[in-house]
Amino acid sequence: MKAVTWLLDLLYPPRCVFCRKLLRSDETDVCKKCRGRLPQIDGTFKRGKFFTQCCSVYEYRDEAADSLKRYKFGGLRHYAAAYGRLLAMCILRERLEFDVLTWAPISKKRRRARGYDQSRLLAEAVARELGVQCVQTLEKIRDNPAQSTMKDAAARHANVMGVYRAVMPERFAGRRVLLIDDIITTGATLSECSFVLLNAGAAEVLCATVAATQFSNN
Ligand SMILES: [Zn+2]
Repeated sequence: MKAVTWLLDLLYPPRCVFCRKLLRSDETDVCKKCRGRLPQIDGTFKRGKFFTQCCSVYEYRDEAADSLKRYKFGGLRHYAAAYGRLLAMCILRERLEFDVLTWAPISKKRRRARGYDQSRLLAEAVARELGVQCVQTLEKIRDNPAQSTMKDAAARHANVMGVYRAVMPERFAGRRVLLIDDIITTGATLSECSFVLLNAGAAEVLCATVAATQFSNN
């Protein structure tokens, strides 16, 4: 073990990113209890019009929802490394085939307020795990109200229309794009991002998220 890692572990012993209990030496990121009880999602699903399929690690509820809220709103940006490992395993397990790895960005204003773009950190962590590059393909050009404040699926779709723009389409034209985000709810955001990417020349868009709400794979 590197001296710096040893010192960091001594000062900040690694905790389960879900229940926050101290991890044992044979556990990484997630304790055995959480691994056993968190609602894992098997298989891929389609939610939204413009991406082919999506894979997610866990259902968005209980400890998984609390953990993602700490990551997104509580400043715990270091969770990205753990989520990245979980998501990379999910992408490999579900055999998602892609050429370009990217993320669904937040607006500049939101990033300044939060201090980081949680989706970008996630995508970078996934890229490190998979040994591929992480490429920016989109920017958010309007700071729309948060999707969580919208009352139904139609409002969520309307809220994201026209808020994304493709960046340097020559990076992904004719290629399969894997779009990373933290949570999928109605699929409105990822569908709009996919629409913009397809319009700018992407051959196909696939998605992967840490969590998915109200899961039913029908
Ligand atoms: Zn745990």
